[in-house]
Amino acid sequence: MSAEKFPYLLKAGAELSKHRIAETELPWRKYRTPYRIFLAEMLLVRTRTDIVANHFEKIASKYPTIEALALADESELREVLRPLGLSKRFPYLIKAARYICDNHNGEIPADFESLLKVPGIGKYTATAILIFAYGQKLVPADVNVLRFVSRFTGLEMGHVTKGSRELWNLLPLLSEANVGLSAENLLDFTRLICRARKPKCNACPLSAHCSYFKHVLSEQDGR
Ligand code: SF4
Repeated sequence: MSAEKFPYLLKAGAELSKHRIAETELPWRKYRTPYRIFLAEMLLVRTRTDIVANHFEKIASKYPTIEALALADESELREVLRPLGLSKRFPYLIKAARYICDNHNGEIPADFESLLKVPGIGKYTATAILIFAYGQKLVPADVNVLRFVSRFTGLEMGHVTKGSRELWNLLPLLSEANVGLSAENLLDFTRLICRARKPKCNACPLSAHCSYFKHVLSEQDGR
């Protein structure tokens, strides 16, 4: 799979880099520390961004450090997470915080292998922590980003969370190093414009070359 086969994906990335997609900054991006990014990414697993954003500062001020989270009272933390629908997830948060305190002296790991050993951290969360906490120029491969690439190229989505190998192979084309597209902008675009339900194709700067959009138009023409 190559840039030659999907030249418009490269152009799409470059085009997106010119637009500021989100009007407001998410709280964990406004004031960034590795701990706040870790906390946000753990909360964002299978939870909507806007819900986490509404509750993030309250949770971060209740547990301002990894040590505070490691020492959290379990029933209190469960109540704090209840508005996010995460009351069952609290043991993973505490486990992860304790693991980092015990094995990394309270520092959020800055390499992929170490992050993957933290309980509750998978590949996407590890990548997001490296991008947002440590400035690494990686492509955040969450389900929204894979869906966008699938729609744009017309390639099959494949497994809903893992994506097809073809899609994964295309993701580096959207990297900041390749096309100047920041991970923030890509995630905001796939969350707010090329969203899961009812994508805003009419407001999308990429519609002229989007396979999904052409398909929608041809269906409308055929009516
Ligand atoms: S035209 Fe629609 S489907 Fe295609 S990338 Fe834009 S928002 Fe997504």
